[in-house]
Amino acid sequence: MPTEPDTGYDPSLGNKFLFVTGGVMSGLGKGITAASVGRLLKNAGFDVTAVKIDPYLNVDAGTMNPYQHGEVYVLKDGGEVDLDLGNYERFLDEDMTFDHNVTTGKVYQHVIENERAGDYLGKTVQIIPHVTDDVKRRIREAADGSDVCIVEVGGTVGDIEGMPYLEALRQFAHEENEDDILFAHVTLVPYSKNGEQKTKPTQHSVKELRSIGLQPDVVVGRCEDRLDAETKEKIALFCDVPTEAVFSNPDVEDIYHVPLVVEEEGLDEYVMERLDLGERALPADQRDTSWRDIVTGEQEGSVNVALVGKYGLEDAYISIHESLKHAGLELGVDVERTWIHSEDFADGYDGQLDDVDGVIVPGGFGSRGTEGKIEAVRHVRENDVPYLGLCLGFQMAVVEHARNVLGLEGAHSTEIDPDTPHPVIDILPEQYEVEDMGGTMRLGTHETDVEPGTLAHEVYGDTSCVERHRHRYEVNPEYIEDLEDAGLVFSGRSNNRMEIVELPEHPFFLGTQFHPEFRSRPTRASPPFVAFLEAILETDRVPGEVEA
Ligand code: GLN
Repeated sequence: MPTEPDTGYDPSLGNKFLFVTGGVMSGLGKGITAASVGRLLKNAGFDVTAVKIDPYLNVDAGTMNPYQHGEVYVLKDGGEVDLDLGNYERFLDEDMTFDHNVTTGKVYQHVIENERAGDYLGKTVQIIPHVTDDVKRRIREAADGSDVCIVEVGGTVGDIEGMPYLEALRQFAHEENEDDILFAHVTLVPYSKNGEQKTKPTQHSVKELRSIGLQPDVVVGRCEDRLDAETKEKIALFCDVPTEAVFSNPDVEDIYHVPLVVEEEGLDEYVMERLDLGERALPADQRDTSWRDIVTGEQEGSVNVALVGKYGLEDAYISIHESLKHAGLELGVDVERTWIHSEDFADGYDGQLDDVDGVIVPGGFGSRGTEGKIEAVRHVRENDVPYLGLCLGFQMAVVEHARNVLGLEGAHSTEIDPDTPHPVIDILPEQYEVEDMGGTMRLGTHETDVEPGTLAHEVYGDTSCVERHRHRYEVNPEYIEDLEDAGLVFSGRSNNRMEIVELPEHPFFLGTQFHPEFRSRPTRASPPFVAFLEAILETDRVPGEVEA
């Protein structure tokens, strides 16, 4: 029963919770497994949400280097979060908020603020109960309004950083009804040299869990293949779960097929049964099958899209990769993605893009590789190669036009060249006076007015669009008229901010100051990505045949 008044405990909320921990090593795809279960529960008619716990001391992911941690994902409310939240949004097709990412930095910051405000009435402030209470409160608040809340604890059981969270979950389970909480442990089942599935790492990580008072209800074995019956029995015996609570999660070619495997294994049904949701679930023949239909759709032929960026790491641009996949699924074409280092253009164009069908310049910060991005834009503009510029890619398209069409030598963004004679991209007008960079970014969802009769209008099929933002610099209003006289069209605006740029005399040249990749879902591909691929499919240009 609840003892602390401020945990937000309210049994009438009636939420169900699936707690997901990881064993043996990180990077097993625990989040994808959890999101897949969530998708299946949603297909069965439940409102599903998710909380990702990141046991690091950063307050948010905004300051984290994409090269180490992968992309910073942006939520509708402007929260800068771990890329796993992106997976939850894509799988569940539900919008999360900043509160759905719990970090140690956030929790401690809040507890220390309370302590400074005297809220603890002279008590010694401790991990138990003050930190654990705050964790429980956050989980309950994020779960509010959903039927099922999936709570994934990042990292691996045994990590020092994760301990307060596991303790919080232990307490949480005591405070709720038994059939409202289920613990799933996702672990690695490796092969020995002689091809045997080994359960010892799993046994050890479950032992670790039990030593802190947690007994998993379900064990999911990540393995190259399905687990043998004998492996499942062994895990059941040593980990003290019924054999039917041990599930395989074999490698699949495409992460979007994980829900199909999870369904075949019956993990979703087991979770519903144990959470006493079985009777409320839609009968099998009435469940939503759109996910399966979309991800197993036929794909004919393929197109090759180059991403000209600075990080050669798929995770750093994961939402763009996924958006291309979604658009490919919608159009029935496979999209091959090639990464080209923007620094490869240091000595100018030398055939780097000859074999690709379309080019994306993604978002980015700082000056490294920007000349290469500008060079890539020059090439696609002059050679009618379909182009999609996202945020920094939008800004570099403007810079390229200013330099090479308008003739403004040395034009640049003041982010990259503070002394440029032609600051066509500059810090946000209302922030000219701001010295401190912290908190000056334009973040999250904003509406853009779309000019009728333009490519942007065709793309969105509407005179407005709503997309997510994450940037600090924008088109300098003083140059707009000259740039438009030189052929650029600013077809999307939000008051005085330029949001979309295009080139009418080009098969497809579109730049967006916002990031459409954060709203793309397998079940709802992003319009600019779909239009970009459509243009590639329509264009007569043969890759490799570049006009002289
Ligand atoms: N660095 C640029 C800015 O701050 C672009 C940001 C981005 O691409 N996300 O405006």
